[in-house]
This record gives sequence, C-alpha cells and structure tokens, in this order.
Amino acid sequence: MPKAIIVGSGPGGSVMAMELAEAGWDVVIFEMGPSYYNNIEGQGPFPTVFSNDELKSQYRYFEQPDPLAYPRTFRQMASQNAASTYVGDVNDLPNQVGGAFPHSDVKVTRMWDIDFKGLSLLGPVPGADMADWPFEYSELAPYYDEVETIIGVQGDVASIPAFVQKHQPQSKPYQMPPGAQMRSSMLLAAGAKRVGLHPFYFPMAANSAEYNGCPACNNCGFCSGYGCPISAKPVNLIMLRRALHTGRAQLRPQTTVTQVNYTGRRATGVSYLDPQGNPGGESADVVVLSCSAVLTPRLALLSNLPDPYARIGKRIMFQNFYDGFAIFLNQRVHAYRGRSCTQCVFDFNDPDFPGARLCARLAGLPYIRAGLCELGGSQDPIAEGKFYQQILGLIPGVQFFGSTFKELMRESLLRDRLAGVDCFATDMPYLTNNVTLDPTIKDLNGQPAPRVTYKIGKFEQVSQSFFIPLLSTMCGASGAQLYAAVAQSTANSLSGTAPPTGLHTMGGMQMGVNPMTSVVDGNGRMHQMDNVFCADGSVFATSGGSNPTNTIMAVALRTARGLTGRRPSTANPAATMPSAPAFHW
Ligand SMILES: Cc1cc2nc3c(=O)[nH]c(=O)nc-3n(C[C@H](O)[C@H](O)[C@H](O)COP(=O)(O)OP(=O)(O)OC[C@H]3O[C@@H](n4cnc5c(N)ncnc54)[C@H](O)[C@@H]3O)c2cc1C
Ligand code: SF4
Repeated sequence: MPKAIIVGSGPGGSVMAMELAEAGWDVVIFEMGPSYYNNIEGQGPFPTVFSNDELKSQYRYFEQPDPLAYPRTFRQMASQNAASTYVGDVNDLPNQVGGAFPHSDVKVTRMWDIDFKGLSLLGPVPGADMADWPFEYSELAPYYDEVETIIGVQGDVASIPAFVQKHQPQSKPYQMPPGAQMRSSMLLAAGAKRVGLHPFYFPMAANSAEYNGCPACNNCGFCSGYGCPISAKPVNLIMLRRALHTGRAQLRPQTTVTQVNYTGRRATGVSYLDPQGNPGGESADVVVLSCSAVLTPRLALLSNLPDPYARIGKRIMFQNFYDGFAIFLNQRVHAYRGRSCTQCVFDFNDPDFPGARLCARLAGLPYIRAGLCELGGSQDPIAEGKFYQQILGLIPGVQFFGSTFKELMRESLLRDRLAGVDCFATDMPYLTNNVTLDPTIKDLNGQPAPRVTYKIGKFEQVSQSFFIPLLSTMCGASGAQLYAAVAQSTANSLSGTAPPTGLHTMGGMQMGVNPMTSVVDGNGRMHQMDNVFCADGSVFATSGGSNPTNTIMAVALRTARGLTGRRPSTANPAATMPSAPAFHW
C-alpha cells in the first residue's frame, strides 16, 4: 500500500489521515504544535490540560503560536513602505495536535450552492478574481452529511428557514438536539424576529448529549478560543483517533516540516525539525499539505514548488467581520456563559435580501452580500478589564486603576450586560490579497515569516455600508438601551495599524480546473505536481459567508476519497465523483 505524509493535524489533515489509514495506507502526520491530550489513541473522552483560564489561553500563548517565535507580517498593499508593516499575530490559528478547530466554538454551518458557483450564478464582480469551484453543492452534500455524522452536531434542521434550506438542502437530521440556549442569544434572536429576520438554532459540534463516548457540554462559558476541559467538542480529534486506531498512522507532534523535497513533478518526501530541533527527513509516495490557509502557501513557497503562473499564495480571504453591540443597562444577560452563542441568522448572506440588489445596482455591482450572524457572544473578564483600562487611559485625570475601574468591572457593561453579534461577510478573492515570504522577518527556525497583504475592495465596502446599519437595527430591536454596529477592522484600528482578525482563513492554494488560474485541481492535487495534495482552508475558491470548517472537512474527505477510490455510503449516484486513482505512485 502507498505511504502518505500529512503536514498538519488540523481538520483538513485529520480527515485525510482517517480516510487514507482506514483504506490501508501508511500515514505519517507531522504537527508543529504540541499534543495536549493523553488519550488520543484510546477510547472515550480525551483528558486534557485545557482549563477555563483566560490568561493561559489568550495571553500566554498556551494554544496560540507565540508571535515572537512565529511572527507574521501584514501590509495593506504591496506598495506599502516596508518600515510601516505590522509584525506579530496576523489571524494566527492555534498550533497544536488537532489544529485550531478543537480550540474554537465549533459552529458548523454549510456553504451555499451560490458560493460554489458564484461566478456562473451571480456574475463577475469588478476587480475580483471570481471563479467557480470545480464541483457543486449537491456533490459535496453527502460529504457534509458524513463529516457531521462522524463528529456529531447539535441543531434542528426543521428550525432552519426555508430560504436557507433552498441554498443548502440537507436531508439528514442532526445527531443531537439543540442544547440549553443562552439568554443573550435569545434576546438578540427575538430582536432579529422583530425586524423580520429568521433566527435559528446554531448547528454546532459541541455535544448536547453523550456522543462518540464524550460527555455533553456543561456550558462552562470559555468556548471560543479555548480547548474544552471535558472534551465535549472533540470534532476532528475523532478522525485523528480513527486514523491512529488502524495502527497504520503515526502522529509526530512538535515536529515542524521545513520543506517539501521533490524531483521534477514528484515529491520524494519532506525535511523536518524534530522536538529537539534536530533536522530529519521522511520519504513517501504522496505528500498532503494541511497546514492552513496562510501556512500551506508559505510551505509551498519555502519549498519552491513549481508555480509557472505565480498563483501560490494568491487570493487569501478572511471574511469581512462586522461587530454588533447590544448593551442592556436594565439587566444582566450572562453572555459570557454558555457556548459563546447559540442562535444565528443567515438572512444577510442572501444576495436577494430586500434592497440589496438595488443598492448593488446603484454602486455598479451585480450583487452584494454579507454572511452569517452569530447572536449573543461577549467578552471574558480579562479582555473586559483591558478594554476599560484602555478607555480610562484616554480620559485626562482619570486613573486606569482604582475605584472607577472597579465600578466598571462590577457593573460589567461590556461583558455581563453585552450581547454581541459577529457577522462574517463574504470576502471576494482579489489577486492583490496574498501570502508571500517576508524578505526580512524570520521565525524561530530561521525561516522567512509569512507576509500577508490584504485590503477589502469595493464589494466589501458597499456590502458593509448596506448591512451594518441593519445589524445595528437588529441589536436595537432586542431591547438593548445602547446599541451599535461597526466593521471589525474599524474597531480594531482605533489603536493603530491593525491586521485582519476573525480567524476564518481561506485561499492561497485555490482549487480550480484551469492550471493557469488555480493551484490545485478538483481532486486537491497540485496542477504542477503528480503527488502533492492540499487539504485544508487554503483550497477555497471563494469564501462564502459561513463558518468554513465544515466545508474544509467535507472537501478534504472528497479529496481523500479521490485518492482511495472509496465513496461515501450516502453519495448521490448522479453526482460526478473525483476521478479515482489516476495517480502514479
Ligand atoms: C477562536 C476560534 C474560533 C473559531 N470558531 C470557528 C467556528 O465556530 N466554526 C468554524 O468553522 N471555524 C472556526 N474557527 C476557524 C477554524 O478553527 C479553522 O477554519 C480550521 O481550524 C482550519 O483548519 P485547517 O485544517 O485549514 O488548519 P488548522 O486548523 O490551522 O490546522 C493546521 C495545522 O497544521 C500545523 N502546521 C502548520 N504548518 C506546519 C508545518 N510546517 N509542519 C507541521 N505542522 C504544521 C498547525 O500547527 C496546525 O495544527 C475558529 C478559530 C478560532 C481560533
Ligand atoms: S461551553 Fe461546553 S463545549 Fe465549550 S468549552 Fe465549555 S463545556 Fe466545552
């Protein structure tokens, strides 16, 4: 049987490892981050060292890469003066066994049919490098079904509004019913209904009942940005475990792949640094890059993989986040408790949202769209405290510690009385938004840092000018006394140059049929290489306005099935499958 090297153990890499190992392949998974699980090869829960500790998780880089050791750089335009670029955390995702997803609040919406065929169905957007994916939603649907069954999703398909179901038809019920609802989410959902929107139970992969031998979530409140102390959201760790259970997969934590080695069109293996920093090498028949949207193109560039049309690293997408704030002076809404948020609305993802077409036409665009809104999140206590200190520091004569600060913390306007909304709006692919190798900044290993060049375009500007006031109205309709909405980039840049945030990173190794305009083909294989595949957020051709990771895993499963020739049991026989192993090992 062939042997595969998988670089990165996140959602994309976990799916590949599971499918290849279960089909009889030998698999070596390299992961630069540590393993925080001591039972990953066993059964039942995954005991871990995660805890409800904001300092450890958010400020001491327990799960995040330390930006001093692994810096990224950011600039808005290629012409920007090198001296004014930002150096630090640029949409960093946690580096650890399992990747970023077990550290998230595991929301698992699907992309819409129009996300896969946006160019054909909605038309070209001036200035953007729009392209269709090489397959349609209907072909991916069985893979979504299969991924959701493996990880277990709570939700209620019947609660999903008809206009959403039309764009992402879903035949199977979720594995678990919705769990306890957060008060902040319910207040915002009521506000959404009052202004004619259609909130529903957020599909998420935190257990509402025991599933995969792991317990139900106890709504500890430290969900987005934290690993789960009781392993109630094991997501892709289930896939990694399945790979390891075959006895044919090896997982090598704290081992960083520094280069893909190749001759002509064939990769021969990889070079790596082991946990002690010693260099090593591993050979294989197939190399799969699953390092994430920024780090996969970076590794491809570091390896100097063939790129005759200069497409590697191009079209990075982050989704354009808008933040809504609903502050309740008359009640505590406890938004810091629960699973970060439990309700969502998808109305703003619809290009036919009332008034959106007219606004687009007036701006000379074929359409505009925003994306999914997560209803009801808040801040954790240390983030809240730091925010007050920042504000107090701006007021002459007011101490940023002492009684005023304590009073603010007790009243907790920006945590216990705040119900927040995150709307992640469709981000167009622009050729000018990209990942390259920084010419001067290097990481701990002496390798060039990834340099992100990113700026929103007219599509995003017009979309935000139309949808942000609607978001604010929705927050107001929830009964909040203070409310507002603003582009996240505006909020972030109040204290200076700010890199994009949001943690939904896509693109850089675009999937497509044309080798001149994309990096990997519809099977996930690099056009220019016979045996190098990409399976992670980097292959996205468009961003859509949904949480990306369900799609990352569904696409990775489709890619893996192309390699093994196996098909999903629920596959629609009418759908085109990736051409099964026409590859030469
Ligand atoms: C706080 C937070 C909340 C989020 N919430 C959600 C959500 O609710 N829903 C959702 O869909 N998404 C969410 N996301 C985003 C989600 O986590 C990512 O979309 C997803 O993890 C990306 O998967 P990936 O396989 O592309 O990459 P990753 O998860 O980043 O995995 C890549 C892995 O590769 C490793 N790696 C990289 N380079 C190398 C190398 N050279 N050698 C060895 N290993 C390497 C990395 O250490 C990493 O573990 C959230 C993210 C965060 C941080
Ligand atoms: S809210 Fe639930 S799933 Fe999230 S970390 Fe806490 S217990 Fe785990």
